[in-house]
Amino acid sequence: MPETNWATHDFTVKMLDWSASRGSRLAYSCRRCGRKFCLFSLVSRDPWAIDGEGRPLDSLISNRWLAEQCPRSFSPKDDEDRKQLSKSGAPS
Ligand SMILES: [Zn+2]
Repeated sequence: MPETNWATHDFTVKMLDWSASRGSRLAYSCRRCGRKFCLFSLVSRDPWAIDGEGRPLDSLISNRWLAEQCPRSFSPKDDEDRKQLSKSGAPS
């Protein structure tokens, strides 16, 4: 996880659900740019980007969002990114 860029966001965290094997599924929403990410608390994999309804975005979008610093404002371009949903569905 690119820790330095992750920390540039101003996240609020919400627990979506819980499973014994993966722990809590957490949704991170940035107050400044509105980007949202999801991760499992007990699984060491990178977070992934989600749209407003929690659906995973295409891995290209997800990787780019993770690599970028917080844009610090809402962008119409992000709305375009949010339409590109992952074809393989939620990570498991
Ligand atoms: Zn942000």
